[in-house]
Amino acid sequence: MAGRIVKVSGPLVVAEGLENPKMYEVVKVGALRLFGEIIGLRDDRASIQVYEQTEGIGPGEPVANTGEQLSVELGPGLMRQIYDGIQRPLDVIARKHGDFIARGIEEPGISHEKTWEFVPSAKPGDVVSGGARLGFVDETDIVKHWIMVPPGLSGTIRKLTAGTFTVRQVIGTLEDEKGTIHELRLSHTWPVRRGRPYRRKLNPDFPLITGQRVLDTFFPLAKGGTGCVPGPFGSGKTVVQHQLSKWADADIIVYVGCGERGNEMTDVLLEFPELTDPRTGKPLMERTVLIANTSNMPVAAREASVFTGITIAEYYRDMGYNVALMADSTSRWAEAMREISGRLEEMPGEEGYPAYLASRVAEFYERAGRVIPLGSDQEATLSVMGAVSPPGGDLSDPVVQATLREVRVFWSLDAKLAYARHFPAINWLSSYSLYSDAMGRYYDTEVSPQWLPNRAKALRLLQEEAELEEIVRLVGVDALSPRDRLTLETARSIREDFLHQNAFHEVDTYTSLQKQFHMLGAILLLHDLAREAIERGVALETVLALPVKEDIARMKYHAEEDMEAVRAVQQTIRAAFTELAARRVSA
Ligand code: ADP
Repeated sequence: MAGRIVKVSGPLVVAEGLENPKMYEVVKVGALRLFGEIIGLRDDRASIQVYEQTEGIGPGEPVANTGEQLSVELGPGLMRQIYDGIQRPLDVIARKHGDFIARGIEEPGISHEKTWEFVPSAKPGDVVSGGARLGFVDETDIVKHWIMVPPGLSGTIRKLTAGTFTVRQVIGTLEDEKGTIHELRLSHTWPVRRGRPYRRKLNPDFPLITGQRVLDTFFPLAKGGTGCVPGPFGSGKTVVQHQLSKWADADIIVYVGCGERGNEMTDVLLEFPELTDPRTGKPLMERTVLIANTSNMPVAAREASVFTGITIAEYYRDMGYNVALMADSTSRWAEAMREISGRLEEMPGEEGYPAYLASRVAEFYERAGRVIPLGSDQEATLSVMGAVSPPGGDLSDPVVQATLREVRVFWSLDAKLAYARHFPAINWLSSYSLYSDAMGRYYDTEVSPQWLPNRAKALRLLQEEAELEEIVRLVGVDALSPRDRLTLETARSIREDFLHQNAFHEVDTYTSLQKQFHMLGAILLLHDLAREAIERGVALETVLALPVKEDIARMKYHAEEDMEAVRAVQQTIRAAFTELAARRVSA
């Protein structure tokens, strides 16, 4: 028996008479069979969040249960796709139904017609459980897609065939402990609100290397870690996201976009497919999935898109990959929660957001991590970076606060820095990373035990610069001691020669950790030697006139292959000071 609509309030529909409705069950709403999800049950009434525009839908129309939870279909064919919030491929919809998104469309998330060459790696007789690899297909030129036993299933493989299959064809069978035979396919479905299980969670203690100096050296994200970035308009958020997608040492990129301004998402949809993967020279889309909520989609779909995105990301993590997910902007998702909650007439929390805002945000970020996936003994990671866009850039906003309680990295994009053409415009005083110390062992062995001390020293100098600038504003630079003036000089060098990084310069766009270490090392060496010289009575002007400053400024343009040139700068600096000392002795 079908239920009936009793009320429509924007994206929220109330229905009664549904047979045995369950929380988070998918229902088809109205004559158009719009896609909805039950988000509240009271007496005989179900509150339904509808993921399509509800105009023209009215009381009395039917509502049908499906018995299913909001799910995604996981299998080969996800890469290169651009989806809406409920995993409908935008290009297929546009091709079949025109650019205007028609309603009530059911399209599989991955093609049910396309065939794939399946190469088994397991064989009949193998005893397997959820997550175990059955074999692979080449999903794109650069992504090997492992076909795994769906979580929850275990037993003995009875049949497994190499060959060409669509995602729904049977590739083999598995007999469970009770003797029941299960068919195996290239795809399976998974409910998006449930995190995919893994064997074990590990502490994220090695970095996601981005090649961006301000991030890697000062505010590193761990592989499997979480972070947050506010992005005031024009602060360079898009460039940061593109740099991360291109350069971070992640195998798979998932980008979830919730746009508000009409062209925000259009830009993403146009720009992402243009990006080239610097490692392979192929389109970055070969290892990317985009989930887009354009402004003509209803707000409720934002929540679906966030959970759809993280589920797809977990699926690739389960294959053993390092996955990076970016969600922009999670504030838009929270605003959707607020709207729905208001229509449900729930008791509002801070600034009208629902009381469960924080727990919903936590449910999302908790799905990041460094784990040993099911059926594997090798680790894999899912790193999550969420962008927030608080009104007026106000960081006391409830969404920002709920996010900051969950994440461990904050990249403070700052419109003032962007205006001053300091790029990337990440404020070194207000950003932080709580991973740095935990990653100490990685730096010690992979780069140098001096990595963290250098980082601390450079951050201290930048902090001192901020304090000294206050004094300069009050009494002028002449009031400073030579030592303090040297601090200002070194801090300027850290900002200009190290932190400034031009995303559009072919060499400067990416810097390895080794090179970052030597660059910062040279700046700090000059500082130490200059300070010793000043203490021995050398005039600050003499020190500042040394031509080594030019060598430091040029370091960022030395190619990675020419690390000798980068290392040589420190020798040049030492030689200059030895010579300076000799000159003084002979004078
Ligand atoms: P937003 O997305 O925050 O509105 P964008 O990312 O589009 O801003 O950046 C605006 C402009 O700032 C870019 O077109 C570019 O000129 C400049 N820019 C941002 N980041 C960098 C960078 N790392 N290197 C060089 N230029 C940058």
